[in-house]
Amino acid sequence: MGENKVALITGASRGIGRACAIELAKAGYDVAISYAGNDEAANKTVADIKSLNVNAKAYKFDVANKDACASAVEEVLKDFGKIDVLVNNAGITRDGLFMRMSSENWEAVINTNLNSAFYMTNPVIKTMIKQRSGCIVNMSSISGLMGNAGQANYSTAKAGLVGFTKSLAKELGSRNVRVNAIAPGFIQTDMTKDLDTEKITEHIPLKRLGQPEDIAKTVKFLAEDAPYITGQVIGVDGGLVI
Ligand code: NAP
Repeated sequence: MGENKVALITGASRGIGRACAIELAKAGYDVAISYAGNDEAANKTVADIKSLNVNAKAYKFDVANKDACASAVEEVLKDFGKIDVLVNNAGITRDGLFMRMSSENWEAVINTNLNSAFYMTNPVIKTMIKQRSGCIVNMSSISGLMGNAGQANYSTAKAGLVGFTKSLAKELGSRNVRVNAIAPGFIQTDMTKDLDTEKITEHIPLKRLGQPEDIAKTVKFLAEDAPYITGQVIGVDGGLVI
């Protein structure tokens, strides 16, 4: 087992997950990243992490697949020896008004954004409980707190992560495993590239969209500097939800 702490971050080939991986690498973590299919982006993230003189490896699997998640966690433990931080970040949108929402689009979003957290966290907490320490961060969203027309599937998954976070925090506190959620506002990534950003920015008190690094800094804070914080949902949204 290496000297460094180890972080496992899902959906870290691009966007918010990638920024979290790089931020934790800068803090001296070895980093295991997961992704769905974008080999080029995943390889670049791994190379960028390694250039910071820590270890990194990418794992391609579908977080909506329970068995794939269990095998991946096993592989990460074999490769890195332990997992100190788990960031359940991978997510998708399949937006549309509820009246016309297909069950495929409902299920894809619930499976990828919510059930994935169960599939990943279930095997990971076993090792965290054994080592009597751990930090889990679930990537929720302001949509999970406020609701959003056209995102009934996504808001439901993200609200589910809030309940999951609070319940797990209560169950795992006595084992020194902390569980928190982040509720990002509008962050500039591929996920938000088609939105009318000018209109959105008008409503944001800080008058800008968020950058992936804004979320990454909060993940690093929760991992490194927040030993007495658990069960919280931290809004990182430029003041959009006040
Ligand atoms: P993004 O740029 O679209 O990146 C999504 C990441 O998730 C990619 O690494 C992708 O891998 C991976 N992924 C997607 N489906 C997957 C699957 N089935 N299995 C494994 N990995 C999968 O998204 P983002 O904007 O960074 O969002 C990251 C998280 O933050 C999501 O949970 C999102 O809901 C949440 N969030 C985002 C915003 C925002 O404004 N951007 C706001 C609130 C919450 P590939 O590269 O291989 O496709």
